Amino acid sequence: ALLGRASLSINCRGRPGHFLSTLAILEQRDGQLNAGSLSAFTAAKKLGGTVHGFIAGSSIAAAAAQAAKVEGVEQIVTVENDAYEKGLPESYAPLLVENIKKGNYTHVVGGHTAFGKNVLPRVAALLDSQQISDITGIQDEKTFVRPIYAGNAIATVESSDAVKVITIRGTAFAPATAEAGSASIVPGADPKAGSTTEWLSEDLAKSDRPDLATASKVVSGGRGLKSKEEFDKVMLPLADALGAAVGASRAAVDSGYADNSLQVGQTGKVVAPQLYMAVGISGAIQHLAGMKDSKVIAAINKDADAPIFQVADVGLVGDLFEKVPELTEKVKSS
Ligand code: FAD
Repeated sequence: ALLGRASLSINCRGRPGHFLSTLAILEQRDGQLNAGSLSAFTAAKKLGGTVHGFIAGSSIAAAAAQAAKVEGVEQIVTVENDAYEKGLPESYAPLLVENIKKGNYTHVVGGHTAFGKNVLPRVAALLDSQQISDITGIQDEKTFVRPIYAGNAIATVESSDAVKVITIRGTAFAPATAEAGSASIVPGADPKAGSTTEWLSEDLAKSDRPDLATASKVVSGGRGLKSKEEFDKVMLPLADALGAAVGASRAAVDSGYADNSLQVGQTGKVVAPQLYMAVGISGAIQHLAGMKDSKVIAAINKDADAPIFQVADVGLVGDLFEKVPELTEKVKSS
């Protein structure tokens, strides 16, 4: 079956752990705590034991103060140094290792983001641990659940490494609320490790629409849109009427209809909004890997046999160029 799930167990070699304590790695941009960091706290709390947070960069006081308000967190370890602002892995990984050793943590948890994927495997290697990536569930302190083969099988992995280094899938752990907590904020160790890599610049896609990764509604367009002009003409008014983020299939991105940052799927973003609307998208497994955990999936496709209808809760068979503008008008007037 398209989404049939197999279960398998993998044992990672290593030494037995000691008293459970977790360091949640927090991400920030320009002093603002990244929303996904709050999901790392949720996973850390689920592990049980002591929970600390770690944040580093140029101007991190406000982000640290926000993190300190997460209930159940005892301490936020901070390292204020411009060298760590952009999270370059060559300097950030030794920084983390120093602080993990100092705090004697048994678990390290971060987001399965570009930053987490870049830094945490290096941390695991430096600690001689097996990296545990992209988990969607925690069974106990050494047993974790993670999708493999683009979500077509679910592996249950057990690690006996002394320090477990884990990245979490943000959509599987709701963000912790930062309200009632009162963690202490303490300076961490700064090994001042140099880096052979220098940060030059970044180009960020800017949009007034909700962020694709965290939006509660997403409308995605596929190759069925036929051109960039039609994509913009048909999909953007629908997104604005619903207050939704815009996504796209890889075929739409590769054909130049939508920006690369909008790609949903195995090699794009993984989203799990309340509503995911797939327009002119066939439903290839690589696309489903990025959206099949959405709460409600609606699909518009002219082909009644398109595989997207196998995962859709609501399906409309018809020409998108007719149906979407009609739907947009109905949403606007409702
Ligand atoms: P198509 O498969 O061409 O489907 C277009 C659909 O539009 C059809 O179902 C058609 O019936 C419908 N349509 C056409 N005209 C109309 C109309 N007027 N009205 C209504 N419906 C219409 N894909 C991703 O999306 N994300 C990924 O991250 C991703 N990663 C990949 C990684 C690998 C290693 C590989 C090999 C592939 C990956 N792909 C990914 C590509 C994936 O296999 C598909 O090729 C892609 O998802 C197809 O995009 P699509 O559904 O837009 O196009």
